[in-house]
Amino acid sequence: MAGVRSRNESAWLLPDDGRRTNHRLRRDMRRFADDDELDLVVVGCGAGGSVLLQRLARAGWRVAALDAGPFWDPDADWVSDEAGSHHLYWTEPRVIAGTDPVPMGSNNSGRGVGGSMIHYAGYTPRFHPSDFMTCRLDGVGADWPIGYGELRPYYEQIEQELPVAGERWPWGHAHGYPYRPHPVGGNGEVFLRGARKLGITAKVGPVAIANGRFGNRPHCIYRGFCLQGCKVNAKASPLITHIPDALARGAEVRPDAMVTGVAVDERTGRATGVHYLSRGKERFQRAAIVAVAGYSIETPRLLLNSACTRFPDGLCNDFDQVGRYLMVQGAPQTAGRFDAEVRMYKAPPPEVSSEDFYETDPAKDYKRGFAIQNVSPLPITWAEHVAAQGHWGATLREYMSDYVHWACLGGLCEFLPQPGNRVTLAEEKDRHGLPVARFAYSQCDNDRALMRAAQSVMEDILRAAGADEVITIQRYAHLVGGARMAADERRGVVDGRCRSFAVPNLYITDGSVLPTQGSANPALTIMAVAARAADQLIGAARGGPN
Ligand SMILES: Cc1cc2nc3c(=O)[nH]c(=O)nc-3n(C[C@H](O)[C@H](O)[C@H](O)COP(=O)(O)OP(=O)(O)OC[C@H]3O[C@@H](n4cnc5c(N)ncnc54)[C@H](O)[C@@H]3O)c2cc1C
Ligand code: SF4
Repeated sequence: MAGVRSRNESAWLLPDDGRRTNHRLRRDMRRFADDDELDLVVVGCGAGGSVLLQRLARAGWRVAALDAGPFWDPDADWVSDEAGSHHLYWTEPRVIAGTDPVPMGSNNSGRGVGGSMIHYAGYTPRFHPSDFMTCRLDGVGADWPIGYGELRPYYEQIEQELPVAGERWPWGHAHGYPYRPHPVGGNGEVFLRGARKLGITAKVGPVAIANGRFGNRPHCIYRGFCLQGCKVNAKASPLITHIPDALARGAEVRPDAMVTGVAVDERTGRATGVHYLSRGKERFQRAAIVAVAGYSIETPRLLLNSACTRFPDGLCNDFDQVGRYLMVQGAPQTAGRFDAEVRMYKAPPPEVSSEDFYETDPAKDYKRGFAIQNVSPLPITWAEHVAAQGHWGATLREYMSDYVHWACLGGLCEFLPQPGNRVTLAEEKDRHGLPVARFAYSQCDNDRALMRAAQSVMEDILRAAGADEVITIQRYAHLVGGARMAADERRGVVDGRCRSFAVPNLYITDGSVLPTQGSANPALTIMAVAARAADQLIGAARGGPN
């Protein structure tokens, strides 16, 4: 614990008097003027942006992060209520297309300081070593310019900083977690029971939820509102795990600041800062280095919207790579009914998972694999699950009255990166007059085969646990890619250090840079990649950024 605190003091900077926010820290934070040339400005204060900000502030850099959304105060802004939490999502217009269009809104990204991790579930598995070389191993997907070994120390750091609780993990590169696993609720028990009967290994965790007090953060109280923002502060998000330390070390966080373009000096080809809108006013923040971390849809959109004479097709888009290879995970959700009460809402939705099906199985007719985790939809999401089966009116009401008897599992299938799955700019404009993102998505045969396989295993597990009825819906989760890292500029947008090939002082440090996604939830990997990029930047600056 002492080691974590010397690296990141966030948990100790939160108040210990029952409130969730250190208002003094926010009130007294350093504020830079627009015409101060920052060492680095970050666009987006979510998983990737916040880690970068905190690391650079610690290294003495003059840094600020601009976020389009608010600086959340869990006491004032969040409610433990499903219907009352829609303001946490990025609901600005986006156009969807392709043969399998991906619905936008609550299912993909958040807004405001903390980003999508404010309403993420809290699962934090690592990627497997194979995820970094799927092309070499399995002939599909892409190889990263870095390997698991290069991310491993950063996985370990971030797992301590969140901190993560879970059983020893036998899959991928076997490892342990800093905190012991949480007690398991009814839904997790069903999963463990069914898996045991079928000889499937299932483990408790890994979740970024405090199991015991961590600094001034209280432990989880098992009320199950993790996807509504965790008013308790037990579930990790950058708002509480990285921003307090960043502020204490001299960083500025500028909320309600929508970045509309990255400016480039036409003569030198270097980024000079960012244009942004704040309280209806157009402003410009100067910076020696720009890092974009606005999420897999907004990052490519911003690069495309930053077209200029030198980059007429969009920033860093000379080789038509921006926006391509965007990935979602196929996330079928299977529910099973039990005579005994399960009460799946009475615990965090992330509890138990299995990665037995993660790697390519040569006996199957598809490549790569899927993970299974338990998910615990609250009543509105449960109603959506039931309604998607065609139940309506009196039958829907019956299913809803039966809610406490249902358990639910979710699959995460590794959909493959494809060049045609991409963000481009639509004709439609947003309320600021900026072209909105058009996101086209089409599944390939391998993706569909994985969905079927995951559904079949989940149905088997629930039946083996004693379910008398199972119902499945098809969903998507977790967008990554769109500005991927690669060995060269013809295959991607940034290099292994997250530096763009086209603009030497422009970095991308969010989920957009991931070339593959495995079957793991991505937040931990996004943070680890950002932490590594920060170290490389600090190292390259050798005592001071230039
Ligand atoms: C319902 C749900 C559950 C999830 N559960 C899990 C889970 O259990 N485990 C897991 O690992 N992952 C989970 N995820 C995914 C995870 O939260 C995201 O993958 C991750 O947070 C993405 O990180 P990021 O840095 O790419 O972007 P984000 O964290 O989304 O941060 C982007 C930030 O940029 C800001 N922004 C965007 N555009 C601009 C602009 N132009 N100007 C200024 N600011 C801008 C946004 O307001 C936002 O704060 C879940 C996601 C959802 C929606
Ligand atoms: S179940 Fe635990 S982590 Fe989830 S919202 Fe409640 S206190 Fe937070």
